[in-house]
Amino acid sequence: MTKWVYTFGDGAAEGAAEMKALLGGKGANLAEMSNLGIPVPPGFTITTEVCTAFYANERAYPAELASQVDDALALMSRITGKNFGDEADPLLVSVRSGARASMPGMMDTVLNLGLNDVTVEALAKVAGDERFAYDSYRRFIQMYSNVVLDLEHHDFEEILEDYKEHNGYVLDTDLTADDWKAVIVSYKALVERAMGKPFPQDPRQQLWGSIGAVFGSWMNARAVTYRRLHDIPASWGTAVNVQAMVFGNMGETSATGVAFSRNPSTGEKALYGEFLVNAQGEDVVAGIRTPQNLTEAARIQAESDKPSLETVMPAAYAEFVAICERLEKHYRDMQDVEFTVERGKLWMLQCRIGKRTTKAALKMAVDMVAEGLITSTEAIGRIDPAGLDQLLHPTIDPKAERKQFAHGLPASPGAACGEIVFTSEEAEAATQAGRKVVLVRVETSPEDIHGMHASEGILTTRGGMTSHAAVVARGMGKPCVSGAGAIRIDYAAGTMTAEGVTLKRGDKITIDGSAGQVLIGAVPMSRPELSGDFAKLMGWADDVRRMKVRANAETPADAKVARSFGAEGIGLCRTEHMFFDEGRIVAVREMILADTEAERREALAKLLPMQRKDFVDLFEIMHGLPVTIRLLDPPLHEFLPKTEAEIAEVSAAMGVPAAKLKDRAEALHEFNPMLGHRGVRLAISFPEIYEMQVRAIFEAAIQAAKETGEHVVPEIMVPLVGIKAELDFVKTRIDAVAKEVADKTGVTLDYHVGTMIELPRAAITADKIAETAEFFSFGTNDLTQTTFGLSRDDASKFLNYYLKGGILEHDPFVTIDKEGVGSMIELAAERGRKTRPNIKLGICGEHGGDPASVKFCETVGLDYVSCSPFRVPIARLAAAQAALEHKK
Ligand code: PEP
Ligand code: MG
Repeated sequence: MTKWVYTFGDGAAEGAAEMKALLGGKGANLAEMSNLGIPVPPGFTITTEVCTAFYANERAYPAELASQVDDALALMSRITGKNFGDEADPLLVSVRSGARASMPGMMDTVLNLGLNDVTVEALAKVAGDERFAYDSYRRFIQMYSNVVLDLEHHDFEEILEDYKEHNGYVLDTDLTADDWKAVIVSYKALVERAMGKPFPQDPRQQLWGSIGAVFGSWMNARAVTYRRLHDIPASWGTAVNVQAMVFGNMGETSATGVAFSRNPSTGEKALYGEFLVNAQGEDVVAGIRTPQNLTEAARIQAESDKPSLETVMPAAYAEFVAICERLEKHYRDMQDVEFTVERGKLWMLQCRIGKRTTKAALKMAVDMVAEGLITSTEAIGRIDPAGLDQLLHPTIDPKAERKQFAHGLPASPGAACGEIVFTSEEAEAATQAGRKVVLVRVETSPEDIHGMHASEGILTTRGGMTSHAAVVARGMGKPCVSGAGAIRIDYAAGTMTAEGVTLKRGDKITIDGSAGQVLIGAVPMSRPELSGDFAKLMGWADDVRRMKVRANAETPADAKVARSFGAEGIGLCRTEHMFFDEGRIVAVREMILADTEAERREALAKLLPMQRKDFVDLFEIMHGLPVTIRLLDPPLHEFLPKTEAEIAEVSAAMGVPAAKLKDRAEALHEFNPMLGHRGVRLAISFPEIYEMQVRAIFEAAIQAAKETGEHVVPEIMVPLVGIKAELDFVKTRIDAVAKEVADKTGVTLDYHVGTMIELPRAAITADKIAETAEFFSFGTNDLTQTTFGLSRDDASKFLNYYLKGGILEHDPFVTIDKEGVGSMIELAAERGRKTRPNIKLGICGEHGGDPASVKFCETVGLDYVSCSPFRVPIARLAAAQAALEHKK
């Protein structure tokens, strides 16, 4: 018989931490804590396999599930001494989701389950607090009705607000037990009106209703979006955790809170978190009351006048600190925990590996190596390469003037600047239109994920460091200021006001997520220094990495940035970018307008010294490191003016009739320029263009070698080759120019000639092409385009439908499509090596900076990846992780 239910509690458990796939993260860790003897309210986990079976069988449960749940409830009764539905001392439970990967706030939860008109009386007696019991019951009715019966939360809120207004109350805490009883009557009437039957009184019916709702919430819209954004497969399913309730709202000796065993923002080794006296967990996250600090040190630093847990509940605090330390040692990583103190007794409700900023991840990893908790190899695996992007985010220039509008909490570091928007929909629309925005909300909820994703940064006026906005922003690596309480937002008017100053929708603001400041206008930013922990970890990564990392760069500025980020050469210099420069576009246009070869050569002669200077600069900056220069690639029409006004301007500047410009542009017009007269095809028609370029390369190599003292060996790369004879045609001319330059200067030239692999025909005939090519560089932008037959410039219009519909798992222009494009690469690598065993292989498409694609490159055994300069650190780390994984 399949085991669908796993119990935990009282120092034992049927599950363990390794069983995350089956029990979900929450369930597996509750089991683990219970096994460690840590105080955990007893309960059981219904496995993710039930979720999968539920969806595979038209939302029906496996036959044995009911009896296994009964057995588990019986065990809870034995441990707690209370019975589910008991009219004298009822066992109350919570029902919560818990997927394999954490999906904070995405799925449903029901608390205080088991209460009804009879058990509420019993709870009042046992707790000795009637007000507490009826408050719990009304919370339950509201939650259950929303989650299970699908009634609107705000209909209940409205009843409550009306009641308070009618009776002259301001806060929920003003209500007495009798008030709550009256509210409950109205709540139940609302349910009966809406459902045509009374609120369910049978605890078992309540339990199964809630279990069904949690499994159902796996497919709700926000969970589906979250999974798509975080690459979580729908097939994983969620588990359901049913656990005995403990109450943090049983008076002044009760409390509830959340904590991290180290600071998730900075990585500092100090307990970090918040709690509230006499509250349920939801109250801490909601941010309606200002939470208190856990430690005295944190309280003093925050200048808070509210006492810390350390002073109000010293015994529970001491036990809590010891448990956090123990958990951190046990899991060998920073822990994110939830806890409740019920009348002085501490209970742990959850532990998991805590999310953190990249800055914190680096500090923790490096510190933990020093502490002997983990090895340097493990440290490499602890950092998400894509997250390094966060460190490359700008911070506010220290010299810049700061016009402060308001201040709040430093919830997620880095600075962001953009136009004010007040809704997630606006944020998305503005971003799609190419504008940068800062999302401003009173508080955010899981429905705002897409808006937060689209924004540069997030500002909220309510909520603490563990509010939804703060947690999610840190995870996304977006700067965030939360709890800026002085700001009043008027959503209807589209304005926000603080201290007499009003800003409106569309105005620019800058937020400093490290300082918690909101500044008026766009404030100058600077890039951070990459030293300390970053340098240390990257050093470890470089030690284990096999693939080299190069950069795609053509300007001296980019080449310098690339070097400072650790690039080991240039993998792609797109020479056409050099042609757009103001000083030379005229000569380029003369070349295009030329009617004869002689005229063309005349124009090219003007370009030669400029190209040579470009290459000298690059060779000098790269100081002997390999530099791959790609000969001209784009169709020539790209260099001609387009609009009437531009044509008139160019015509006047060049002294060429506008009609001639127009005629030439028309003659060069193509229906599919990406598949047209470009790349090596230009050289077949006009060999003199590449001849000029390679002459410039050779002369520059000689000059740079003289100036740097380093031997310069240029790698000359021919784009869009599909036929070996094309490459032969060009290679013959390259060799001829080399000989000419060598003869003239008396210097022997070392150089390599290779090709990009960007066409399926090139991949398939790679064995032939390798007879001529000394290296291949996979141009996966074009190779993706040509393998799919998908225009890279137009695909974004419809690829979204493919991604949303699950027809494609990833955007193939971002992450290599292993099955198709990847097979092309494997085939070309294999065939190329057959002809030329030591052929050098690299990749220079955008994929070279994408961690998943880098991993793929390792499995094919490429020699290097090349990516944009700012992604070089990402590629270095990804290459190290790939090497470690591949070794296993
Ligand atoms: C490619 O096609 O992958 C490539 C690097 O070249 P480009 O993007 O310039 O076409
Ligand atoms: Mg290309």
